[in-house]
Amino acid sequence: MAAVVDLRSDTVTRPSAGMRRAMAEAEVGDDVFGDDPTVNRLQARAAELFGFDASLFFPTGTQSNLAALMSHCQRGEEVLVGMEAHTYRYEAGGGAVLGSIQPQAIVNRPDGTLDLKEIEAAIKPDDPHFARTRLLALENTITGRVIPRQYFGEALALAKRRGLSTHLDGARIFNAAVKLGMPVKELCHGFDSVSSCLSKGLGAPAGTMLLGSKDFIARAKRARKILGGVMRQAGVLAAAGLYALEHNVERLAEDHANAERLAKGIGAAAPQSNMVFIDSAPGLAEHLAKHGISVLPGARLRLVTHLDVDAAGIERAIAAFKSFK
Ligand SMILES: *Cc1c(COP(=O)(O)O)cnc(C)c1O
Repeated sequence: MAAVVDLRSDTVTRPSAGMRRAMAEAEVGDDVFGDDPTVNRLQARAAELFGFDASLFFPTGTQSNLAALMSHCQRGEEVLVGMEAHTYRYEAGGGAVLGSIQPQAIVNRPDGTLDLKEIEAAIKPDDPHFARTRLLALENTITGRVIPRQYFGEALALAKRRGLSTHLDGARIFNAAVKLGMPVKELCHGFDSVSSCLSKGLGAPAGTMLLGSKDFIARAKRARKILGGVMRQAGVLAAAGLYALEHNVERLAEDHANAERLAKGIGAAAPQSNMVFIDSAPGLAEHLAKHGISVLPGARLRLVTHLDVDAAGIERAIAAFKSFK
């Protein structure tokens, strides 16, 4: 029986043999004391790659985003954020629960962006009735959609003009960068902070980088401590992250090609990165499971390609869809 083709998410990847070797051989120390040389190397490498002064290693993207919100905003301040944004919708309201930060959600347009006029209209006047609008948080890729650099240029100019800080949830920024043929440094230029996952398409078992200025990262370090996210010999995980940045970025183009092939094969809309969406039907998910294709059931299926699904797996998935009556 062939291995299951797991299209539930790009988070299901298992560390490759090379990655496991790097992890096993990692030099480690106690990162609470700043002693872990591999964590320090990863942080330096990420800062260089993204063009920021400093960076900090987090166990998860949820925690990295929350620490960023808490570092930008004080209690009673407000973040403008897309209604579909992960940090608004899928992080259990952490900014409100733990940061006392008010989210002002704005409807995402079909392309995933926020209307600049709506952003501007949502900024509250300086008046004791209102929370103080402090931060604009954007996301790229957002639900598989790639936001072009030009939009960010315009959104960042608006934020600057209105005195807002800016955060980019770039959990899958490397997918956007590879798709656009643009280095992440260029794509993220001008944001005050960026959060980028190593555990999605890059194939590391855990880990997210937060990028920012030295001051910002010093604040984020305190937030990470409050949130319980400082680890000890985290070099074992950081080694996986370094390996991922070195080996698994350019190959994201294969995931995008596989997603295109899958979409074509099953009659779904052309994907912009590694996610294909298609309406489901009763019994489809079960049928696919019987044929060794794993998907998250729902009225609309999200099929995600990643480094543990190869072209042959995609053909098996297409055949399984086609055999559904
Ligand atoms: C996965 C994801 C996160 C959170 O990452 P976790 O490591 O799962 O906490 C944040 N933002 C986006 C867009 C994501 O896809």
